[in-house]
Amino acid sequence: MSSTTPNKATSPAAAADGEHKVSNFLRQIIENDLDKGTYQTRRWAGSPGDAAHHAAGQPDPAKIRTRFPPEPNGYLHVGHAKSICLNFGLARDYGGVCHMRFDDTNPEKEDTEYVNSILDAVQWLGFDWQANGNSHLYQASDYFDFMYRAAEYLVQAGHAYVDEQTAEQMRAARGDFGKPGVDSPFRNRTPAENLARFREMRDGKHEDGSMVLRARIDMASPNINMRDPAIYRIRRATHHNTGDTWCIYPMYTFAHPIEDALEQITHSLCTLEFEDQRPFYDWLLERLTEGGLLQSPPPRQYEFARLNLTYVITSKRKLAQLVYDHKVSGWDDPRMPTIVGLRRRGYTPAAIQLFAERIGVTKSDSWIDYSTLEGCLREDLENKAHRGMAVLDPVKLVLTNWAEVFGSDDYTEDCSQPALPHSAIPEGQPEPAPRVFKIGKEVWIEREDFEEVPPKGYKRLFPGNVVRLKGGYVIECTGVGAKDAEGKVTEVHAKVIPDTKSGTPGADSVKAKAAITWVGVADGAQAEVRLYDRLFLDAQPDAGSKDFIEALNPNSLKVVTGYVEPSLANAKPDDKFQFERHGYFVADRVDHAAGKPVFNRVTGLKDSWAR
Ligand code: ATP
Ligand code: MG
Repeated sequence: MSSTTPNKATSPAAAADGEHKVSNFLRQIIENDLDKGTYQTRRWAGSPGDAAHHAAGQPDPAKIRTRFPPEPNGYLHVGHAKSICLNFGLARDYGGVCHMRFDDTNPEKEDTEYVNSILDAVQWLGFDWQANGNSHLYQASDYFDFMYRAAEYLVQAGHAYVDEQTAEQMRAARGDFGKPGVDSPFRNRTPAENLARFREMRDGKHEDGSMVLRARIDMASPNINMRDPAIYRIRRATHHNTGDTWCIYPMYTFAHPIEDALEQITHSLCTLEFEDQRPFYDWLLERLTEGGLLQSPPPRQYEFARLNLTYVITSKRKLAQLVYDHKVSGWDDPRMPTIVGLRRRGYTPAAIQLFAERIGVTKSDSWIDYSTLEGCLREDLENKAHRGMAVLDPVKLVLTNWAEVFGSDDYTEDCSQPALPHSAIPEGQPEPAPRVFKIGKEVWIEREDFEEVPPKGYKRLFPGNVVRLKGGYVIECTGVGAKDAEGKVTEVHAKVIPDTKSGTPGADSVKAKAAITWVGVADGAQAEVRLYDRLFLDAQPDAGSKDFIEALNPNSLKVVTGYVEPSLANAKPDDKFQFERHGYFVADRVDHAAGKPVFNRVTGLKDSWAR
C-alpha cells in the first residue's frame, strides 16, 4: 500500500459517505470492527464456499459484507425497503459489499415472478450487487451440499442426533419457560448409529415427519431455542432449483448462519424476533469453524427493530390475501405498501432512501407515523415536480363579454407560468422552460370556487366579486349561468376585464380578491384522476388478534374525471407533478397514455394524516 493511500481498514472515517450519516448502533459496531481489524485476515475466493475454498483466495477486497436475504415468496414491501437501504447502504458507506441472496431453502413452487420483482425492486431503489468485478447474487439452495456435509460433521462429532419421537412427544419434552426439557430417548445413540440413520433419511428410507436431525446442545437451557433444535427434516417436495435431489431439507435456523458463513458475511443484520436465535447461530458457527469447515472469524448476527408503519400492513402473507381476495387491484395497486405499489403511487427511490435514513435503526420496536413517509416524498418532489393546473371537480365558467373585448368567441390567447417557482429552483440550476396554456371564452374552474350566496369571508367567485384566473385575466363574476334539474350549478358567468393579464403592465390595475386555478376548455385535456386515501381506517390494522380485512377503508379510492393543462396531458408515465392546490400527482405507469391521461394522487400538499 502506498504511503499516500490511507489504510481504510483501520480508518473507517475515510468511508466516503459514512461521514454525513447520523450514527447508530450498527455503524458503531462496524466502525469498531474496522478499527480493531476484526475481519482483516479474511480471504475471499471470489465466490461463496467453505474454509478451504476461501483460504486459497485473496485477502477480501470488501471491508465488510452484509446481505439482503428475502424469501422469494411474495413482493417486497416498505419494511424490506428499510432492510435494503440498511444493508446496501452500510456496505456502500464502509467500503463493503452487500450480497443479494434468495433464501430459498424452503422447498416450494418456483416463483420467477417473485424473484424478478425482488431484483427489480432492489435496483429501482438504487442498489446493485455488482462489486469488485463480481456479481454477488446468490441463492441459498446452492449450498444444500455443504449444509448436508455440515450436518454429517455435527453427527460425527457427537453434536447432532436423529430423533424418532413424534412431533407431539418432542413438543411435550421441550418444556417451557420455567420448566426444563426432558432428554429424548434417542439422544444417546452413538455417532455411527446416528450417521447411518441420517443417511437413511437422506436416501428416502423414512416417511415425511417420522424423524428429524437435532443439534445436541442442552435440554435444560433457559433459552428454549437451545434445547436441541431440529436442523433437518424429511420433506418430499420438488425444489425449484434442486428438483428431487433432496427429500430432506435444512431448517431455517440451521441454514441461515451457514449461508452467511459461506458468503463471508461479516455483519448479518436481522429483525429483533431473531434475537433468541443468536446463541444457536453462534453455537453452530463455532462448531463448524472448530471442525475446520468454515473460515474464522465467523459472521455475527445483530438485531434491529423492524419497521412498523401506521395504517400499513407489512406481512407478505397478509398482503397476498389482499391481492388474492381482490381487495386491491394487484401487488402494484397504488394503495399497497409494496415497493411496486409505492412506485406506481408516485414514490421515488430518493424519498424512500431518505425515509430509511430518517427513521434510523434502533433496538426497540416502535411505530412510525405514515406522515413521515409522505413528508420525505414532499421533500424530494418540492424542487423537482413541475407545477401545473388541474381542475378535479369541474364546472364551466363562461366569460360572456369575450367577443366584445377580443373580437371573436373563438379567440384564444397564450398564458404562461413558471414550471417551478423561483424559490424551488436549487441554486445554480437553470430555470425550466415555462408552461404555456390558452385562455378563451370558456374555462373549467373548481366547483368549490363559486358560491351563489357566499359564506362570510369567502373571497372567490360570487356575483359582483373580482378574482384573477391564475396566470390569466382578472374577471368579475356576474352569477349563475345555468343549473340542472336538481338545482346544481352547471355554468357560471363572469366578465373578463381587459388589459389585466398576468405579466402585463396593467396586471395590477384592478385589485383581485383571490386567484383561482383553472384549465382552458380550448386546450385542457380530460383526465382520469385517482384520489387515493389510506387503505385502512385503523392505525394498527393487524395488531393483536384484529382482522385487518375489517379495517379496510371503503373510500380508499375515488376516481374523478377532471381537466388538466397541456403540460400535464403531455406527461410521460411516471412523471410527477404538483397540481396547484391539490397535491402531488404521478402519471400512472400502467394506464396513462398519450391522449388518455391518468393520474394518481401521491399525497396532499400538507400533512393530512398527523393529528
Ligand atoms: P414477511 O413476514 O413479510 O414475509 P419476512 O421477514 O418473512 O417478511 P423475508 O423475505 O424473510 O421476509 O425478509 C427479508 C429481509 O427483510 C429480512 O432480513 C428481514 O429481516 C427484512 N424485513 C422484513 N420485514 C421487515 C420490516 N418490517 N422491517 C425491517 N426489515 C424487514
Ligand atoms: Mg420470511
